Amino acid sequence: MLFMSTRGKSPAVTASEAILQGLAPDGGLYVPQLFPYIPLQRLKMATSYPELAYEVLAPFFAGDELESELAEICMEAFDFPVPLHWHNDQMAVLELFWGPTAAFKDFGARFLAACMQRLLAKRDRKLTILVATSGDTGGAVAAAFHKRPGISVKVLFPEGKVSARQQQQLTCWSDNVEAYAVRGVFDDCQRMVKDSFMDPELVREYGLSSANSINLGRLLPQIVYAFHASLEVVVKTGMEPDLIIPSGNVGNSCGSFWAKVVGAPIHSIVLALNANRPILDYIETGKYQKRPSVATLANAMDVGDPSNMERLTHLFSDHASFTDEVSAHSVSDEMIRTEIKNIWETYQYTVCPHTATGEYVRKLTQSIHPSVVYATAHPAKFNTIVEPEIGSEVPIPVQLSELLEKPSRYKTIDPDHHLLFTH
Ligand SMILES: *Cc1c(COP(=O)(O)O)cnc(C)c1O
Repeated sequence: MLFMSTRGKSPAVTASEAILQGLAPDGGLYVPQLFPYIPLQRLKMATSYPELAYEVLAPFFAGDELESELAEICMEAFDFPVPLHWHNDQMAVLELFWGPTAAFKDFGARFLAACMQRLLAKRDRKLTILVATSGDTGGAVAAAFHKRPGISVKVLFPEGKVSARQQQQLTCWSDNVEAYAVRGVFDDCQRMVKDSFMDPELVREYGLSSANSINLGRLLPQIVYAFHASLEVVVKTGMEPDLIIPSGNVGNSCGSFWAKVVGAPIHSIVLALNANRPILDYIETGKYQKRPSVATLANAMDVGDPSNMERLTHLFSDHASFTDEVSAHSVSDEMIRTEIKNIWETYQYTVCPHTATGEYVRKLTQSIHPSVVYATAHPAKFNTIVEPEIGSEVPIPVQLSELLEKPSRYKTIDPDHHLLFTH
């Protein structure tokens, strides 16, 4: 099994090579050269989530240097529950927030970390991972790589621009994880990462690498829960579900489209967007145009130029086939607030602002099929938005409260990438 670049100007590589490289040399993203077909019969024998993950991912690692370690990697990465919560006979929520940092990015970050550690050990190489973050990504990456031998992590966040609970998740690690509060905005953090990668001496000396959402190692594990959810819905209802996915960089939804292509019993996939809607504009007009991002209550989806769009347009290569498969709706901040309250009053269930976009879109899709909304983060991470709507406190899950109690440690620096490498 080999992966090729969306731009078609780099040689095809194995999954492991794609994971180590991140971006393809021609600037494209790695996608399967040929999609495997996964027979459902085999998946039905899996008795746990890690076993299911192994069965789904094995074809993508066929012939790969990590093939024989894949079962162990899945056991290690997916060591938390992935429950489907049913509002009623037809409507479910897939809770993707029971990992260490209470958001779905734990799936990708933990799988990537487990793969990278093994690949580096084989090569006797060391790595420094740079992450600029405006919220969830930095925490998931820090948690996933914490205490991994041979890998250090530098997390950059804009000083005073992340929520108190987010900042705690970025700064509570120590050991091999260093956090930097940058005197500037998110764009300054991102520029410092880019400047570091432009410096060949730093790249060589520190073995610089990134763990952002375009890495194949973060995308592949996101195929698995689309199978997990759709198989469970088919068993319960006898029908294939519509999946409704709160989306920003569309990595999560791309994983589910890949799942559908390789055989998951999914009826349709609908993207829930906030006010950032370049994908919806593309669907409506046939023209894709990136835009500056707009700040919303669902801040992990504030993306004006989704990084995985290139994978979606590669999969559905003309506008007609794109609109056949991909539909999307945009949800305003006002609707997000109303929906958090509405779901609480109707089902006594609390959703985060991102999940609320999905719940709102569920009402717009007039389908006779059962539906699954992906719950991308635990509502306790966004307590300052959620609690005023529901009029009560959101209980903090145990994994989050453990992080909130750890001591916080970080350096505050000016926006100059040299300051990341002075000791
Ligand atoms: C990252 C994130 C999203 C968006 O996921 P993409 O893969 O970027 O589309 C949605 N919700 C939460 C809570 C996130 O952290």
